[in-house]
Amino acid sequence: MTKSYVIKPELGKEYPVISHGKGIYLYDKEGNRYIDGSSGAVTASIGHGVEEVAEAMYAQAKEVSFVYRSHFSSDAVEKLATKLAEWAPGSLNWTFFVSSGSEATETAQKIAIQYWQEKGRPTKNRIISRWMSYHGITMGALSMSGHVLRRKRFTPLLADYPAITGPYPYRKPEDMSLESYALACANELETAILRVGPEQVAAFIAEPVIGASGGAVVPPDGYFQRIREICDKYEVLFIADEVMTGVGRTGKAFGVNHWGVVPDLMTLGKGMSAGYTPMAATIVSDEIIETITKGSGSIMAGHTYSANPQSAAVSLAVLDYVEKHQLVEKAAEQGAYLLARLKELADELPLIGDARGLGMLCALEFVKNKQTKEPFALSQGVGGKVIQKAFEKGLLIYPAMGGIEGVAGDAVIISPPLTITTEQIDELIALLKEAVIAVQQELQ
Ligand code: PLP
Repeated sequence: MTKSYVIKPELGKEYPVISHGKGIYLYDKEGNRYIDGSSGAVTASIGHGVEEVAEAMYAQAKEVSFVYRSHFSSDAVEKLATKLAEWAPGSLNWTFFVSSGSEATETAQKIAIQYWQEKGRPTKNRIISRWMSYHGITMGALSMSGHVLRRKRFTPLLADYPAITGPYPYRKPEDMSLESYALACANELETAILRVGPEQVAAFIAEPVIGASGGAVVPPDGYFQRIREICDKYEVLFIADEVMTGVGRTGKAFGVNHWGVVPDLMTLGKGMSAGYTPMAATIVSDEIIETITKGSGSIMAGHTYSANPQSAAVSLAVLDYVEKHQLVEKAAEQGAYLLARLKELADELPLIGDARGLGMLCALEFVKNKQTKEPFALSQGVGGKVIQKAFEKGLLIYPAMGGIEGVAGDAVIISPPLTITTEQIDELIALLKEAVIAVQQELQ
């Protein structure tokens, strides 16, 4: 092999070189096959090698790939924004296009702050977020993120700290009902707003289902309804970070739809273009756009590649594919089967403390002691070991290890393409079981 100059996640490690993908499978140049059990980073939600998307990509490239958004609009961008307005709940009708989830959450943060400035309330500029959260790797997005591993090197440089904990049903106090736990967790937001002062708070940001920092942690019913009430009471905008949960992943078009809650801003990424092109979005309400239109008339955000027709055409083809193949409904049905199979594994194997999830966004959490739920020391890297074993067996799963020592266990995310069949789920579960058993034996 010739020397590689690509900076890879683990420097010095050799990575297999991928040759192609089809459906839920990826193939490397050595001829090894992998089940993409996590859709990469919860991204490839329509599976690999979809012809229609490749054709849409080519068709747009033949016409025009790039125009600058300050000069032109394009059919692809207009159609995509219209479709997103149809999909999105309430009056979330306006889309600002960006190229990554981090850009989407940073843009949401900026639009929220700008909205209050345009309303003549410039002191409302703080963002409240939760410790168990991940909103992106750039400094503004990281400032809102509680993912300890990803933020700790940069903590002194970050703009803010997450302020509240998120609901974590597996580790709730045993003597508390789920209902009161949901309210207690949501009420932390009220306390945080009152501590900072409502006149300082622009917005609250949360993932509907916690992803990379917790592993498919689903909030109890009532949590987001109460969050919405608190945001309304103190005039705080609610940003739903749907970068991981959006576009059908959880079995509804958007995560917040499970609780009938309408945010003021919503971010999308990952499944929005299913890995076929870098594409992400910040979707905002009529009220926000009307206020800014009447005020300065322009949004102070944007990137060179924002709203380029090439990515828009690809994303549109992905959304068409999701609709045509009813993948949102499939995610709900097949996701229920996947979770049932994961719960069987959890019943059988002592290493697994919890199997949880919503739709096709599921996770396993590993514990030292199933009865006491005692987590492993993070330095033992148990989640990482399971990921490695699964990889060796031809199964890709995703880490969710943003916790802090002694508070949360390691978890792995299982989030295959929404197209996965029942037989393929069985195939995935068989490999996952072998991987967990292998790590269990190593730890004995
Ligand atoms: N928000 C959420 C909820 C995410 O899960 C992620 C990525 O994992 C991001 C934002 C950042 O997205 P990106 O990696 O595309 O910048």
